[in-house]
Amino acid sequence: MKINEMNPIELYKKLPKKNCGECRQKTCMPFALSVIKGEAQLSECPYLTGDARDAIEASLKISDWREELIAKLRGEIKRINFDDVAEGIGAELKDGALMIKCMGREFVIAPDGEITTRGHITPWIKILLLHYIRTAGKGELSGKWISYGEMKSGMVKASSFLRECEEPLKEFFDNSFDKTVAMLQMLGANTCEGFPTKNAFHLYLLPKIPVVILYWPKEEEFESKVKIIFDSTVDRFLDAESVIFLVEGLVKNIEIILSRG
Ligand code: SF4
Repeated sequence: MKINEMNPIELYKKLPKKNCGECRQKTCMPFALSVIKGEAQLSECPYLTGDARDAIEASLKISDWREELIAKLRGEIKRINFDDVAEGIGAELKDGALMIKCMGREFVIAPDGEITTRGHITPWIKILLLHYIRTAGKGELSGKWISYGEMKSGMVKASSFLRECEEPLKEFFDNSFDKTVAMLQMLGANTCEGFPTKNAFHLYLLPKIPVVILYWPKEEEFESKVKIIFDSTVDRFLDAESVIFLVEGLVKNIEIILSRG
């Protein structure tokens, strides 16, 4: 498997650095990060000329490993009988395909692993959905909430989860509380009760992966805080690393909308 040969800083150095936001990111740096993660295309920057773009693409080599991984996962998906897994993962079966709702969007996954939806699909979402199907989790949700650190292998990756997921969400709430709430509601979140803050938002990131996002605003000597909690069955449906991937997608969605003002 080929690996990405460029990191976000190296890519940033090759961008026009106008920080104009025309690529839907606030500045060139988050754009570089999104390209490396496969959530944005170089063509979204109108200031990259054909030759410069070709040169960057040649050094990126990022599509190779993603496409290889997607092809590998599709190979595994082909061997799965959708009738056996649909109910367990909370998907609907229609004409032999699985219909899965992920963050407010409906995706159709054909038996050969091809994924379609309205609008653009990033490699990131393809990998995530194929992982979710391949994991083929089943069983009822427990209704008992756990932190990311309580998941299997969650402790090892807890600092990444804090940095990539909880910290950015906290900033969104701190800086644009109403817009962040509106965005969560747009993605299907409902306010909920019974948690130690009134700012508690329940939403399904995938049919069997509900989360509750808790936000405490700054108060006197206490700093603001965000905690994201999961149903205690989460490990059955996705591994800890994929869960970071999933919540990062939520963060990215909110960030893009907020950056549009
Ligand atoms: S479009 Fe994006 S990447 Fe291109 S110069 Fe503007 S901010 Fe930078």
